[in-house]
Amino acid sequence: MIDLRSDTVTRPSPQMRKAIAEAEVGDDVFRDDPTVIRLEEKVAELFGTEASVYVPSGTMGNQVALKTLSEPGWEILCERDCHIVNYEVAGPAIHSSLLINMIDTEHGVFTAEDVESHVREPNIHNPLTKIVTIENTHNRHGGTIFPLNEILRIRKVASKHNLLMHLDGARIWNAHIATGAPLADWVAPFDSVSVCLSKGLGAPVGSMILGTKDFIEKARRTRKLFGGGMRQVGILAAAGLYAVEHNIDRLAEDHDSARILAEGLGGIDGFDIDPDRVQTNIVIFDISKTGKTSTEIVGIFKRHGVLGVPFGPTRVRFVTHLDVTAEDCRKAVEIISGLNFDRP
Ligand SMILES: *Cc1c(COP(=O)(O)O)cnc(C)c1O
Repeated sequence: MIDLRSDTVTRPSPQMRKAIAEAEVGDDVFRDDPTVIRLEEKVAELFGTEASVYVPSGTMGNQVALKTLSEPGWEILCERDCHIVNYEVAGPAIHSSLLINMIDTEHGVFTAEDVESHVREPNIHNPLTKIVTIENTHNRHGGTIFPLNEILRIRKVASKHNLLMHLDGARIWNAHIATGAPLADWVAPFDSVSVCLSKGLGAPVGSMILGTKDFIEKARRTRKLFGGGMRQVGILAAAGLYAVEHNIDRLAEDHDSARILAEGLGGIDGFDIDPDRVQTNIVIFDISKTGKTSTEIVGIFKRHGVLGVPFGPTRVRFVTHLDVTAEDCRKAVEIISGLNFDRP
């Protein structure tokens, strides 16, 4: 099987398992786990932030960050297709009593003007607009990069209106590798940041929240509230450390593999793909012209040894990662180009 469902399907390599086996551990709720402390220091240093805290998942990263930043009843601005709105089980409403004001976009990227026009005037009627969130790279929009110059323009508008900024940077590593802009530049405009170790970097578990020392101490308390205080978790942090030490630069290979898929699929009858939207490791293509649904198409792919996911009724998503090679992607294109969609 060539598994292109997600970059979350990677399995720890033998070297990563060795790092896990040899990890020094302690009780991290007592701050006694040296491996977790090393991971938190290492990731903060990579991004040039004062501190970071380890959490079990990216969802918890976003939710703990939003809870720590906010007060009940605040309004937050989110792009309509973002992970926080679509895949986090109404977390902002349930955990933090936040109202979401959604910004519609064509490709997941909004502008400083969009933010300006969504900030409500402070008066006795209106909810207080207080946070703007950005997802980078944007999952549902095919791994597209939210441009740094627009983020900086948004920061100006945010500061003018006293808005805080949160980055869902699950795949910020991919934006860094695709553009060459330093990790620190991508997070500097934000008050809080969440990044994943378990996507492209290939760790089995874990995300980090980044911010000032003061913010991270508060987030550590929120993490405990959410049941995310963990004990001898250095065995997992060791995998995270291994991932940040070995698997960042190689994301370029995933981007090259995504290009191979995009170009190959673009040449196949029945598929439509906009190559400009393939900027990192995600490839989304339209299959309407095959006359089949995305679920049917994904079923056909699966019977021929290629796994993807339906992305709405007419689109299919492939994601490249550590456990598929460029050769696997060429093979996938070859298999798919040989299929006949007239038959089930
Ligand atoms: C995967 C992902 C997350 C976090 O997901 P978990 O499965 O909870 O780790 C958050 N945001 C984006 C954009 C993601 O793609």
